[in-house]
Amino acid sequence: MQLTNRSKVVSDKNMTIAEGSYLPAVLKGMAVTLKHFFKRPVTLKYPEQTRENSEVYRGRHVLKRDENGAERCTACGLCAVSCPAEAITMIADERQKGEEGKYREEKYAAVYEINMLRCIFCGLCEEACPKEAIFLTKELLPSDYEREDFIWGKDRLVEGLEADKRIDVSKRQDR
Ligand code: SF4
Ligand code: SF4
Repeated sequence: MQLTNRSKVVSDKNMTIAEGSYLPAVLKGMAVTLKHFFKRPVTLKYPEQTRENSEVYRGRHVLKRDENGAERCTACGLCAVSCPAEAITMIADERQKGEEGKYREEKYAAVYEINMLRCIFCGLCEEACPKEAIFLTKELLPSDYEREDFIWGKDRLVEGLEADKRIDVSKRQDR
């Protein structure tokens, strides 16, 4: 069965004088080089230059707060159950009196961790969440040296309280 039309029949015939001089082959190679020389480069000078990701690129996660600044997550565990990589773990706790401004629901995640080395950035946790609490963002996951530094806890997952620390996920919600 022929998969492509690019196969070439190998021949052991003697080279012509022109072929033997290798000039046609060299000129052909130089023409290919010249053709690419004047094209716009497709590569970037990373890390000085970075490419802008799409609004719906599946990068690092964020745990969202509601409009009053309370954490949306209610530690229901649906994201963890739907995660094919078993990357999410959490410990639930009960909201105490006076903590209504910190946690939106009566139950909240005291501990919420994502093992970014296991995560395959499929977005199923985001799909499964009934509280619109977890979203993937267009930000790339930063590199690191130690394995334990890839286990992200609430300190890195929950968005900041201040307006400039909030992460806009409206484009993901609109999909
Ligand atoms: S993006 Fe996929 S693999 Fe990563 S934590 Fe969410 S469900 Fe798991
Ligand atoms: S992020 Fe969403 S799905 Fe996951 S535990 Fe919190 S509320 Fe449930």
